[in-house]
Amino acid sequence: MDDLARVRMAEMLHHRKAGLGLGDPVVPSISLSTTFHLPQANGAAHYYGRSGQPMWDEVEAQLGILEDAEVVTFPSGMAAISAALIVMLKAGAKVMIPSDGYYVTRLLARDMLAVYGVNVIEVPTLEMAEADFTGFSVIYIETPSNPGLDVIDIAALCARAKAAGARVIADNTTLTGMLQRPLDLGADLVVAADTKAPAGHSDALFGHVSGRNPAVMARIREWRRQAGAVPGPFEAYLLHRGLETLEIRLERMCASAQVVAERLAAFAGVRGVRYPGLPGDPAHRISRAQTSGFGFLIGFELGGETQAEAFLAACPYIAQATSFGSTHTAAERRARWGDAVAPGFIRLSIGIEPTEVLWQAIEEALNEVGVGG
Ligand SMILES: *Cc1c(COP(=O)(O)O)cnc(C)c1O
Repeated sequence: MDDLARVRMAEMLHHRKAGLGLGDPVVPSISLSTTFHLPQANGAAHYYGRSGQPMWDEVEAQLGILEDAEVVTFPSGMAAISAALIVMLKAGAKVMIPSDGYYVTRLLARDMLAVYGVNVIEVPTLEMAEADFTGFSVIYIETPSNPGLDVIDIAALCARAKAAGARVIADNTTLTGMLQRPLDLGADLVVAADTKAPAGHSDALFGHVSGRNPAVMARIREWRRQAGAVPGPFEAYLLHRGLETLEIRLERMCASAQVVAERLAAFAGVRGVRYPGLPGDPAHRISRAQTSGFGFLIGFELGGETQAEAFLAACPYIAQATSFGSTHTAAERRARWGDAVAPGFIRLSIGIEPTEVLWQAIEEALNEVGVGG
């Protein structure tokens, strides 16, 4: 976390203060109303729940501080991603997406965008640094990529995209606005799954788009109204609560991830450890320059599918679940979803368990299943 992120965190915690009247609740109230008192058609803050409602305002205010941008919220990360892509593209346009990124984004591009006449080109994250952007409308990036944790220089890519007349959409899910600010580095839109670390407790799906071009953001907002991809007020409340502890959770998660990654890298029988915080990691140099933390995701390989599954089952403090960024450590073999990784490749998402207790459990499980002999 850098100083700017910390100041924003404090601002987020107190964002309601200026608007409070005597006796008002300090914590926002969940409004379930789909209708609003409208004796006249114009001038009301809200008129119908699909267009806007009070709990969205609260969470969009928080995220707006975090991103220093206009924010439109969505009921999931994918709803936010599809909104950004649909608004930025049209039939005949070319979009470059990472071949090693979140797999549902690739499915969306293949099964939906391509059907509507968009030319979808998949390129590995690392190769985007050299790829020719001529003729592209949108370059879509995800850095660090999920699950391979490859990193691309966002500022350099955005400068090249701009020179080629392309817009850049950055999926900032893995690091969040606390640790990485793609808009400051030249991206046109940020999309994120707040389902992960921002909500942070594996109990709410949520997403958002942020950007600094009012006309583009107005179109994103209008897409939400027309598509009806609207977040629920309960989920908005859970995200609002989760965001209040984002910085303190990330501190623990990133610090533990550094320790666990270093020890995994030194553990005989554990191969291919990827964590941008390891000095020898291919992503380390760029990560140091463009992020203010290396995140909480670690990739590594065990001897094969059987050993990897046995390890996951043996460790009492690893939830065997997909997704990441929650309070609890979670892991899975990504090959089971068809990601282009080795059968024994595990994506480990470090939670907020006390570091040494967590490591001890991981070490015991590795020994128990015979990693390293
Ligand atoms: C989880 C995830 C998404 C999708 O978010 P949902 O809230 O599950 O729709 C998108 N991008 C990345 C990088 C993710 O990890």
